[in-house]
Amino acid sequence: MINISQSLMNLVLDAQCCPYAVKLNYVDRLKSETTELMLRGHVFEYKLLGKSSSDKEIPELPRLMKGGLSQPEKDIDLLVQIARAAMTNMGVDFETAQMQVKILNDKGESGHLDMVANFKGRKGIHDVKYTETKYDDRWNGWADLELKPDSKRQARHYIKLWHDIHDEWLPYYFWVFGKSGWIRLIKCTVTEESIDMHEEEIKVTRDLLKRFEREGWKPLPSYEKCKACYMIEHCKYVQTLPDIEQYII
Ligand code: SF4
Repeated sequence: MINISQSLMNLVLDAQCCPYAVKLNYVDRLKSETTELMLRGHVFEYKLLGKSSSDKEIPELPRLMKGGLSQPEKDIDLLVQIARAAMTNMGVDFETAQMQVKILNDKGESGHLDMVANFKGRKGIHDVKYTETKYDDRWNGWADLELKPDSKRQARHYIKLWHDIHDEWLPYYFWVFGKSGWIRLIKCTVTEESIDMHEEEIKVTRDLLKRFEREGWKPLPSYEKCKACYMIEHCKYVQTLPDIEQYII
């Protein structure tokens, strides 16, 4: 059985989901390529939390020819200093925090929390994000959480899982750090209705996975989708040219 994580839910519940991509990633367990931006995000998170999200590797940026730090790494180091100071000064207790916490409930729903820490005297789940978007970017960035359904689902999933396992409701914080030094702190709490909705989404995800499997994990390629697909290097069904959009006028 595949564990239901928030990233799997986000993939499967996307109206454009390609079942074959789900199979490559979650059944065949093939690794996706790490983009440079993703790597910078992993390095930032590792340096800020002091622990890698991967059990197997510590993320590293390439060094200069003579072994010195590259400019992107110097920029990240500076941002880590800013982030650490802001979080500490605002009341996050790094001393007692648990980093990179993996959780799994008895129904096969899983999560990977960046940090569980006391903040202003109350325990909370904290997620750190590195972004190269602008502070007020509503469409690709973090200026409006309402436009980020995947992130809202992530927060709901982790709050629910923590409650399933520990029987306590914790607030969820996104600490968003922009490359240029800006910071957003977004607090999420849930309602009974939103948790019911999340349970329903988990059920829909399970039903869709069963259907995908029954139908043989059918590839559903399209030029736009394949171009952005994180499993493209493993796929033999990639669509490399766009479809013709037709109108009778
Ligand atoms: S490259 Fe295209 S067809 Fe292949 S898994 Fe990705 S979306 Fe599906």
